[in-house]
Amino acid sequence: MELQTNYTRDDYSVIVEHGALRRLDLSVYDKAIVIIDDTVLKLHGERLQLLCSQAHIYPVAAGETLKSLSMYDQVINQIIDNGVTRQSVVIAVGGGSVGDFAGFIAATLLRGVDFIQVPTTILAHDSAIGGKVGINACGGKNLIGAFKRPKAVLYDLDFLYTLPYSEKLSGFGEIIKHAMLEGEEALLALHSDFPDRNSLKSLERIEMWLIRGMRQKLNVVQADEYEAGLRKTLNLGHTLGHAVEFHHHIPHGQAVMHGLIYATILSGRQPDFLLSWFDALELPNIKLSPFDDYHQLMIKDKKNSLEYIQFILLKEHVAVEAVSEERLRAAFQILGGYYE
Ligand code: NAD
Ligand code: ZN
Repeated sequence: MELQTNYTRDDYSVIVEHGALRRLDLSVYDKAIVIIDDTVLKLHGERLQLLCSQAHIYPVAAGETLKSLSMYDQVINQIIDNGVTRQSVVIAVGGGSVGDFAGFIAATLLRGVDFIQVPTTILAHDSAIGGKVGINACGGKNLIGAFKRPKAVLYDLDFLYTLPYSEKLSGFGEIIKHAMLEGEEALLALHSDFPDRNSLKSLERIEMWLIRGMRQKLNVVQADEYEAGLRKTLNLGHTLGHAVEFHHHIPHGQAVMHGLIYATILSGRQPDFLLSWFDALELPNIKLSPFDDYHQLMIKDKKNSLEYIQFILLKEHVAVEAVSEERLRAAFQILGGYYE
């Protein structure tokens, strides 16, 4: 399956298939710099042999510690020391952390070189498209970054089968978000395909949902690349989600699942359906900290003014609303009641 952006220039294709990596064409570049998740390199060495033989390999340990200024400093200087030109390409092979990190390197190296994404997690069906790249600051997630369109996204589904369940679940969090944005019908259909842990573990029927999520994200980012309006809706579940991820050090998409429950409560809806579904999927419980711990982080989130925090709410349509601290606190209390 091949999806295509529809900008006026710098379009890119998103290829989603088993063996997509074989479509990589490096003939136009004088040097390929591959920033790769070392776990993926270990697990899929054979699949990556051809690529490794044509490129300079920089294995990195995935995760939030990768998305730091110190790792950026270390890796970009190694790349510069080893020689790079404007005709070089940076290729990210890994999940969202590697994609965000390598993309930020590509955006800033020599003021920008070409960038190709080879996502290897379910979550990265979301993070590999849309062009947001970046690293974390001490005070919060993704606060240092850029917009950088990839030249291509090669989503090779053969990578996904080695993911541990907790990462499948994390990626599924973003699929749920996309389905919630699409509407009730999509959410129910997703639930019936993946009602519990076993169905998700097998990944049967996942391909259709990955493509559906990517298509939806592409439509939104094409209409509003720089997040003036519509793109903000993709932050559904993320305002509290980022705070939970940062505070509890849990996988991104799992934190978003907690954020989706909170956004549902804040929208004045019953969260019971999501709560029992997430139980069946075995989303690990978290012990909530006091509201202020999350509130501090939410205020720092780049989307907010000081008095109100912008939230994506599920009203008749998906809406962006500035929500007062009082309302946030009240909804958090209700959430706490469910989490006891
Ligand atoms: P990740 O890159 O940290 O990968 C998660 C774990 O899976 C790591 O331990 C990694 O080593 C392992 N892994 C990766 N591929 C594997 C494979 N094929 N088999 C076995 N293990 C594998 O995390 P992620 O969940 O992919 O991405 C999360 C990151 O994405 C967060 O930093 C988040 O902020 C970012 N994100 C960015 C955007 C965006 O638009 N740029 C959107 C959503 C999320
Ligand atoms: Zn996300």
